[in-house]
Parts: sequence; structure tokens; C-alpha cells
Amino acid sequence: MSFDTLGLSAEILRAISEQGYTDPTPVQAQAIPAVLLGGDLLAGAQTGTGKTAGFTLPLLQRLSSTPAPKGRRPVRALILTPTRELAAQVAESVSTYGKHLPLRSAVIFGGVKIGPQINKLRSGVDILIATPGRLLDHVQQGTLDLSQVEILVLDEADRMLDMGFLRDIRKILALLPKGRQNLLFSATFSNEIKRLADGLLNKPALIEVARRNTASERVAQVVHPVDRERKRELLSYLIGNGNWQQVLVFTRTKHGANRLTKQLEQDGISAAAIHGNKSQAARTRALADFKKGSIRVLVATDIAARGLDIDQLPHVVNFELPNVPEDYVHRIGRTGRAGNEGEAMSLVCVDEHKLLRDIERLLKREIPKEVIDGFAPDSSIKAEPIPNGRNGAGRGRSGGGQRSRAGAGGAGRGQGGGGRRRSAVPA
Ligand code: AMP
Repeated sequence: MSFDTLGLSAEILRAISEQGYTDPTPVQAQAIPAVLLGGDLLAGAQTGTGKTAGFTLPLLQRLSSTPAPKGRRPVRALILTPTRELAAQVAESVSTYGKHLPLRSAVIFGGVKIGPQINKLRSGVDILIATPGRLLDHVQQGTLDLSQVEILVLDEADRMLDMGFLRDIRKILALLPKGRQNLLFSATFSNEIKRLADGLLNKPALIEVARRNTASERVAQVVHPVDRERKRELLSYLIGNGNWQQVLVFTRTKHGANRLTKQLEQDGISAAAIHGNKSQAARTRALADFKKGSIRVLVATDIAARGLDIDQLPHVVNFELPNVPEDYVHRIGRTGRAGNEGEAMSLVCVDEHKLLRDIERLLKREIPKEVIDGFAPDSSIKAEPIPNGRNGAGRGRSGGGQRSRAGAGGAGRGQGGGGRRRSAVPA
């Protein structure tokens, strides 16, 4: 199938072909016609499936083919994302695919000055991409009017709820006009997401691509058993031995990310950390340096890495397994994207055997184990409890640098998070 048959205008098709895309991905082939019909949409799709263009392309098509209200440009489409990085990436897609259209877009998120955002909004914007906290700041300051929104997109809705944004989302929904189109994208479908979707969506079209929680088949996965204290040494060895030039490494904590970055630098491997305690400028710089190849290793926590779009990322390493099995699927989704081969390896020590079992149960298969010569685990070393582990007080979420709002997310969140398994997706 080609893009030509989907009902998109010549200007949009030109932008797509300038990107070098010839065929729509499965989520695009399903979502584009559904959104063009004007109804609501519930889409089960994770990052890496091409979902961003799946909602951006038909959104641009709809806005450009219906006349804008008279007077100063009102915000006609609102795209909400959980993290700043994802907001920036979605905004980039909107600019890219909309570059031959007379539509204007803006992105607003926290951690940067509000003044330039106010000026931009004042000058008139058709499409607004935002994280919930900063959006509400603008509403409170009277610098944003959402009363003419025609299309709402909730991108990575599951992650927004995980990050405690439910209350903010409800506040935002109350500011929007009733007769609008709603698109909800989520990688997983917990009962909370289903409740949100039930209240928000009107007879939505349902699409689901890439069976939920199924790790991408293009990604080769392997576990390297190793002792707790030798992980860093093994990582440096793998990077050097394989001459890897671009590798994304996950740690469980911000502190762990900082420490590992320092150690890699000491081993002569250029590295930078990206997590919620870093300023927006530092995060943007680290990502840019990584993308252009001036640093070899980006060390990230789960939230900070969420939605990172790095083309052709060949290697992802779980330096530590995540506390929540679903995060493993998100992590390895960073590699093997849009047709590229990828390799995801996990350095697993004796403390993490239960986490590994949980992941394998979720994947419904065993991940092959391969001991690297010289790094065989010492069987006399006993397991130790993992700080912030599944039985700990919380999920160890960094919050991705988002402001936390008192009470956001409701009671019970963060307590015994390991027990809060997301349920199966509706067929
Ligand atoms: P997403 O799931 O939206 O984060 O997109 C994943 C990656 O796929 C991004 O790097 C996109 O630029 C790329 N992509 C999106 N649509 C297509 C397409 N039709 N053909 C090839 N690559 C695509």
C-alpha cells in the first residue's frame, strides 16, 4: 500500500516523500482513514510503530481542509504528551509533515522560560503540543484559550497516567468544547486507561498494532549473566570489543545513571546521562550530542528515555532490569525501529532473577542467556534486595523532570506499584 490512496493532500504527500517514506506503517494505514472520517479513535500502539505520523498526518489534513474560524488564529488541535522530549519530537513531526501547509504550531512544556511561549501563543497557533503541567500554567495565567479546540490527541496516555497526570488531564478536558474529535494512543490498557477512554471517547474506531507487550521481532534479545560488581566492567568490554559507536544504556535510578556515566568516562568512553534532575538544556544537549555521534553512550532512566526517537539505534543495554516488566518492552522498543535491526542486551546479576522471570512471563518466552568469557557469575554471591524494587515503597519513577502536583494521580499511586499490573488489552 502507498500513502497516495489514504486521502491526504498533495502538500502532505510531498512532505512525506521528502522524508523518504514510501509506505505507511500498519498503524498509519489504519489510523489515517479512521481519523479522516472525523470520529474518535482508540489506538493501541507503542513508540516505534510510526504512531506519531499516524495521528499527525490526518490531523493536518483535517485542519487544512476546513476553514479556520475568523479573527485571530485559535488553537484548533491540542496534542498532549507525558514528557518534554516527546512533546518536542511530536512538534518536530508536525512541522515536518506540515511544512507545505499554512498552519502554525507551537510546543509548550515546563523547565524553560514561559515568556517566549506566551509570545508565540499570542501570535496565533493552530496546533499546540504540550505537556499537561505547563499547559495549565498558561491557562491559569490567561495566556491560552482552548475553547475552540476541534481535535484532541492524548499521546502515550498510559504513561501520562503513570506519571500522575490524570487530574491535570481532567482539568484540561473541562476547558475544551464538547463537539470535538478525540484520539487516544496508548501502548497498554490498564483499567484506568479504559475508564479514561470510556469517559472521553464517543464510539471510537479501535485499532491495535503490534500485539501488546510483544517485543519487536526485529530486536534480538539476550541476557548476559554477570556479577553485580562487574557490570560496569562488562559494559565497557562489550562497547570496546564490539566497537559500538551509539548505545543507549538504561539504569534504574538517576544516581545510578550519573555514577555509570562517570565510570564510562574514566574508561575512556564518552557518555552523558539523561534524567529528570538534569535541566532541560542539559537533556537537549546530551540527546543532540548523542544523535550526531559526539558521545557514544547515553545513559538514561526509564521516564527520561520515554519517546526518545533516535534513528537506527543499534544497541540498547539494560544495565539494570526495570522494576516494572512493561518498562522492559518500552526500553527495547528504542532499537530496531521502523525496519532497522536492533540488539537489546540485559546485564543481569543474581539480585535480578525475579525481575527477569517477570519479564519473561510478560513476553511469554525465555530470553536466551549467554555468559561472556571471563565474566561468568560467581555462584557463591548471594542475592541482595534491590533498593526501590518491586516490593519497595514505589516504582522508582523519576518523574522525568515534570513538576509534581499535589494530589495528582490520586491516592494509592506509587504504593506497592509492583502489584499494579496493567491488564490485557481489549481485542
Ligand atoms: P513513532 O512510532 O511515531 O515514534 O515513529 C517511529 C519511527 O518511524 C520514527 O523514526 C519515524 O520517523 C519513522 N517512521 C514513521 N513513519 C514511517 C514510514 N511510513 N516509513 C518509514 N519510517 C517511518
